[in-house]
Amino acid sequence: MILIKNARDLVKLLSKFRSDNLKIGFVPTMGALHEGHISLIKRCITDNEICAASIFINPTQFTNLNDFNNYPSTIEADLDILERNGCNVLFLPSVKEMYPSDHKTKFYDLGYIDTIMEAAFRPGHYQGVCQVVDKLLSLVEPDRLYLGQKDYQQCMVIRKLIELERYPVEVVVVATVRETSGLAMSSRNMRLSPEEKLTAAAISRNLFYVRDQIENLPATSLKQGVTEALNKEGFKVDYIEIADKITLKAVEKFAPGSGAVVLVAATLHDVRLIDNVLI
Ligand code: AMP
Repeated sequence: MILIKNARDLVKLLSKFRSDNLKIGFVPTMGALHEGHISLIKRCITDNEICAASIFINPTQFTNLNDFNNYPSTIEADLDILERNGCNVLFLPSVKEMYPSDHKTKFYDLGYIDTIMEAAFRPGHYQGVCQVVDKLLSLVEPDRLYLGQKDYQQCMVIRKLIELERYPVEVVVVATVRETSGLAMSSRNMRLSPEEKLTAAAISRNLFYVRDQIENLPATSLKQGVTEALNKEGFKVDYIEIADKITLKAVEKFAPGSGAVVLVAATLHDVRLIDNVLI
């Protein structure tokens, strides 16, 4: 694996691959890699001649300094994981490299999706995500971009960014990888004790319950039921929403066959977790 820390070297290397007609797939991450990230890397390797990944804990997408300071970093282990799984190029930039002094903060007109759920609870979060993904896409110019369904709203935001900035890239969304308990794998899970991890599995259990009951019970009572169940387990629930899978507009009455997604964000002892299931 080739490790690159500066943008100019990255552009040079990738343009060489491109001129050799090699397809480039790209997996952006914030590190602290787990099986979820690895599934993106594996899919990227299957689909492309070159798999490029990045590790960058992007300060502009954190809306809480404490969260940023506590974000796990396991670079040595990450390098080993990427190497062992066959990643070809790792871009590991510094904050200065990504945001040089002449960096211009853009505003991305994302519309409705930048007003709801994660955007409402973390104002400015998706603008920060767009700053970094825009910069990464302009450097990497991948043929395909690999994203996890785990961050469903983020996938919609990045699709919108790609449309706004007209990047000629195909987005591949990879299914969420879960622990056997059902808990969605996340770098943030490292901050949970084994007991808390078991408790945290209540999130996915409740999502699966909504998925299985959506045709039998009204959306409002399902959402209220999940909120109460999670509160009882000690979570602080930010939102539980049943939404159209394309527009993310709330679904009041589920019509069988229509595409919907159930999304939840809840905090357990200071660790904020998000998850979703498609119906
Ligand atoms: P992160 O490092 O959390 O920014 O995530 C980097 C990429 O990995 C994003 O596209 C995430 O959606 C994806 N990802 C994170 N957790 C999982 C998971 N459990 N299963 C599949 N993809 C994931």
